[in-house]
Amino acid sequence: MPGPHRARRQLPGQQPKQVRPVNPDVLSRHGELIWLVPHRPPVGEPELGRGVPRAQPLDLLANPPPLQHPQAVRRQRHPRADLGQLLRLLMHLDVDPGPRERNRRRDPADPAADNHRPQSHVLPFSGYKGAVSYQPADAAGAAALAVQASRALAAAGQADMVWGHASIRDPGGRGAWMKSAGWGLEEIDAGKIVLVSPDGTVLEGSGPRHIEYPIHTAIMAARPDVGSVVHTHSPAANEFAALDVPLRPLDHAGSLFCFPDIPRFTLTGGLIKTRELGAALADVLGGTRACLMPQHGIVAVGPDAPAAVMTAVLLDRACRTQLSVMAAGPLRRWGGEQDTVAKRADVWSEGQLQAGWEYLLRRAAQAH
Ligand SMILES: [Zn+2]
Repeated sequence: MPGPHRARRQLPGQQPKQVRPVNPDVLSRHGELIWLVPHRPPVGEPELGRGVPRAQPLDLLANPPPLQHPQAVRRQRHPRADLGQLLRLLMHLDVDPGPRERNRRRDPADPAADNHRPQSHVLPFSGYKGAVSYQPADAAGAAALAVQASRALAAAGQADMVWGHASIRDPGGRGAWMKSAGWGLEEIDAGKIVLVSPDGTVLEGSGPRHIEYPIHTAIMAARPDVGSVVHTHSPAANEFAALDVPLRPLDHAGSLFCFPDIPRFTLTGGLIKTRELGAALADVLGGTRACLMPQHGIVAVGPDAPAAVMTAVLLDRACRTQLSVMAAGPLRRWGGEQDTVAKRADVWSEGQLQAGWEYLLRRAAQAH
């Protein structure tokens, strides 16, 4: 009899289903998400702006992979589980000791404490509800957030091959943490994150910087309230901007980008490759949350990575919605100002944006 149990039954001669290794960057235990951070200086750092970034060889002793959930390790007893996970299991290098032991290891008053892994590496995964901040405490935390922002954008379908980027403001005021050039958003891990100064110097990390880094550093310079900047080449936004009509609040997403109208940067449709162009873009952005860049893409900002990433994702959605409507017929109805301004405070509260961000991170983890 056909049914779900029959569909999963192993047929004679059929190989057992392969167990896919879990995302090597993620540990989910007790509601926490832990990301690998850079452990050692870059090897063979290419000259700024030149060369193709290459993955660094994995040295399990000097640069161990991140923690693994014990259940995840148990799930990978298949012969195809990767060598690193087997070694960790055998050598007990990185088996999660549990929250009580982790706290003991972090106690600076404990002479036996193992404080090599700062708490900022442990980023919140759930339970935000006003109790969690996405403001990084140090460089490692900023780099980890840059990884998450990249992965979240990819999970939302915002990738344009190796173009488009998200940044996190350096807590030390040195510049912006963002992915290095040459990688897709979904490929980003801590080894592909660089710290770029306002003059374009790569201060930390390995790999060439993006040409359009001034988008991030200039906006951060002009907007002290901005902790994260996203720039993507959203096809929907470019298609919509070509119509040169106002973006209307046709759905929840659209409520974020009207009253007042979303600004448009029309000085050029080319690359934002100088500090002057970056400053001009920041000037058009003004105090708003996002800006259309006709013939190019979008920029979205926020006080933290969840807000900036979700704003970029929602702008893409709002443009898609209006494109679909206008393809079907003339716009006849959209939200009024009073109703729209009131509802966006509800539907896009800080908590809702963080919930959307965390969903994207779960999808990113499933994709690896
Ligand atoms: Zn661009």
